[in-house]
Amino acid sequence: MVGFLREFQGLTASFSVNGVSRGRPFLTRVDPISGNVSKISPERARRTIGISMELDMRPINQCSFCDYATATPQPRIQHSGGAVSVPNLYPWEKYDWITIYPPFSQHQVLLSDLYFEDMEMMIESSYDLAERCSRDEDVIAFMDFTNWGAFAGASQQHPHSQRKGVTSVSDPVQEREWRRCLEITEAVGQHPFDILLQEEREDGRRLIFDNDVVVLAAFAPTC
Ligand SMILES: [Zn+2]
Repeated sequence: MVGFLREFQGLTASFSVNGVSRGRPFLTRVDPISGNVSKISPERARRTIGISMELDMRPINQCSFCDYATATPQPRIQHSGGAVSVPNLYPWEKYDWITIYPPFSQHQVLLSDLYFEDMEMMIESSYDLAERCSRDEDVIAFMDFTNWGAFAGASQQHPHSQRKGVTSVSDPVQEREWRRCLEITEAVGQHPFDILLQEEREDGRRLIFDNDVVVLAAFAPTC
């Protein structure tokens, strides 16, 4: 397969700024896993953000996730990296867990507090739960999202993830990505994530962390 990371360079029709006529370069990128198309203005990406705010965030006094040992349902799963998964009190799937992350006395409430060891805890606990779901043929997909920080839309200040084994019907967007992954694997005999990692390591610009867990900036981001 040629050009797994597909990028097209374009130039806008010219326009004038302060009497100077110019065209601007723009990029069109295709996400290798989803096939989704992303439009990027490199010039815009270099511009600074014109918002400044001050935050006054206070820790809450009583946190049921810090007190998980007495305040959450059972059975609980203790992951070797330090995270704990407990049954979701408000489930909407057959398997529905909340994974709670240490530290248990002091909350990390900003997204910028998130660090690489937290990623490793997330991935490790996610894998444990996905493996459990894979033993049940009712489960056709695995859903995993994390609420981290005061602006994550979470009702709980304590950083946590939700993990669910999806039953009945799978999401068409995931179906499409899954089909695409299978097609690529069949066509080139290699898993798309392996190809992605290989190409991103060679390029290096989007490689943020490379250890047991690899963190990449999205090649074709949509936000
Ligand atoms: Zn807490």
